[in-house]
Amino acid sequence: MITHRSLFLRHLAQTSDAPLALEIEKASGIYLYTAEGKSILDLISGIAVSNIGHCHPAVVKAVQQQSETYMHLMVYGELIQSPQVLLAEALCKTLPSVMDRVYFVNSGSEAVEGALKLAKRYTGRRNLISCYNAYHGSSHGSLSMMGNEFFKQAFRPLLPGVSHIRFGAVDDLHLINEQTAAVIIEPIQGEAGVVMADVSYFHALSKRCKETGCLLIFDEIQSGFGRSGSFWYFEQLGITPDILVCAKGMGGGMPIGAFISSNDIMQTLTHDPFLGHITTFGGHPVSCAASLATLKTILSDELSLKARVKGEAFRKRLTHPAIVEIRGIGLMMAIELGDANLVQKTIAKALEKGLLTDWFLFKDTALRLAPPLTITEEEIEKACTILLESLSE
Ligand code: PMP
Repeated sequence: MITHRSLFLRHLAQTSDAPLALEIEKASGIYLYTAEGKSILDLISGIAVSNIGHCHPAVVKAVQQQSETYMHLMVYGELIQSPQVLLAEALCKTLPSVMDRVYFVNSGSEAVEGALKLAKRYTGRRNLISCYNAYHGSSHGSLSMMGNEFFKQAFRPLLPGVSHIRFGAVDDLHLINEQTAAVIIEPIQGEAGVVMADVSYFHALSKRCKETGCLLIFDEIQSGFGRSGSFWYFEQLGITPDILVCAKGMGGGMPIGAFISSNDIMQTLTHDPFLGHITTFGGHPVSCAASLATLKTILSDELSLKARVKGEAFRKRLTHPAIVEIRGIGLMMAIELGDANLVQKTIAKALEKGLLTDWFLFKDTALRLAPPLTITEEEIEKACTILLESLSE
């Protein structure tokens, strides 16, 4: 019998031998609803995407209105499209005034690609630095910046001139020099298993970048859009990057990304060569409309601030002998169990009980905790009960 499941397995390119392969019929708020009639509490938000929940009414309305008005019109950068300009303005209002130019793309990897090209073009330098255990995407350029050999080695040759420093290690900052075009860093490392560094490290990093004339790129693709307890995590660090990249939660469920910088840096894409970065679909009007609705919802409902309180509520409830530590801030957290088998068992048990969680690409001993920021007190209580029961069984 032909089923959606059999078609999924036969015709969709697979990326592992063990896909979740749940058939989802509908998603709303923090719940996914399966074809078998089960409701599943989503504790990972499609990997830090559904920050305001699935199918938020403001996003649905924006998508409906914009798709009835116009969709794709022309390649990026030529025509004035109100969803793009209003979103760019709203984004810039969340940022220090020097960051006043937004380049819209379709995804996180593409935002990273644009940022790397921009840094090379602006500095005239070729070398790039990222951190060990960094995840910046899966395209050739962004994969080059990944700090993990296992996932990279089969795809070489990648970009030349790339080296890595240890996240949080001031001792490695001397490796940044006058040949470095940019350092790209996740201010909270996501796929490494939610790893944070001292505020003083970021000040030293920013100082070293300024001394050597290289650009500092912050990848806030996971930490941005309210997840860390402020709209951008870097607000909590007291430094400003030269280029900021964002995606994921930005679209409220629609695909969109951006790299953002100052006019001084960004204008280099307009000459030698002109059209220094081109995208057909970047800044798609429907995605921009969805993103603007998302941004407004996060600000008006004070979801960043609430993420802090809700993160604390999780921490308070999640005490169990198997939990070694809980890392992270706001609603970007990792529950460290120190045991990859236990992680897999807990994920399976939790799913049986109607809760979706996950592990991390470079950290299989921890559970991912990244629920929609709209999760309620009662839903946190329910999620923690399921997690604790799953750990105990
Ligand atoms: N940077 C970070 C920090 C990410 O977490 C991701 C996605 N996991 C990316 C970049 C790449 O984004 P995308 O999958 O949209 O290309």
